[in-house]
Amino acid sequence: MDGRGILIVVSGFSGSGKGTIMKEIMNRYDNYALSVSATTRKPRPGEEDGREYFFRSTEEFEKMIAKDELIEYARYVDNYYGTPRAYVEEQLKAGKDVILEIEIQGALKVKEKFPDTLLLFVTPPTAAELRERLVGRGTETMDVIDFRMKRAKEEAEGMGRYDYLIINDVLDECVKEMHQIIQGEHRRSFRNEAFIERMQEELKGE
Ligand code: ADP
Ligand code: 5GP
Repeated sequence: MDGRGILIVVSGFSGSGKGTIMKEIMNRYDNYALSVSATTRKPRPGEEDGREYFFRSTEEFEKMIAKDELIEYARYVDNYYGTPRAYVEEQLKAGKDVILEIEIQGALKVKEKFPDTLLLFVTPPTAAELRERLVGRGTETMDVIDFRMKRAKEEAEGMGRYDYLIINDVLDECVKEMHQIIQGEHRRSFRNEAFIERMQEELKGE
């Protein structure tokens, strides 16, 4: 198969389980590299600089924008979030499938810049389950949860622009399904031009 990895964008409502799925998929399979974003939001308990995010001041973040060090960035609930370019390019070249866990505005910007990007949208099976997960996570105040539910309503308008929906009901099944979808994506003919050419050449010699 052609050597370059696939750029994968995973979006989904806050609380849909993206972070949980990412941890699992990284634990279970070898071929993924997870991009670590930069953000101006404050770390949640247990989060570490350089692991979940690069936590930066607004001034530092704006410097990264000015130096064109980000593939994309967006504002979300009063904070900046952005994808550092260098790591993504290096990992794709090395043949890794690189996952960006980013919100919808950023996802659409990435797709515009890199049309071969695979867009996946994670959703719980119901809206009630989404609220329950946000409450259950216990990391935000009720005001922020209400805001995130409103934001989810807006984001749902964009679900149809993604290539696949990943329904996160039973975690284990969801992780397997995401991996299978990505494996299937590797077999798309447009990602295998070198293979096609080689087969055509070999067959000419038969
Ligand atoms: P996101 O990264 O999309 O904001 P999280 O990964 O933080 O979401 O998940 C939100 C909450 O839902 C967490 O408390 C997590 O443990 C829980 N959760 C994730 N996936 C499932 C699932 N399949 N079933 C039940 N709870 C889940
Ligand atoms: P959280 O604050 O819950 O970690 O993330 C809030 C939202 O920002 C999530 O939808 C997450 O996917 C998104 N996000 C995280 N990193 C990036 C990024 O680099 N770019 C963009 N556009 N969104 C991001």
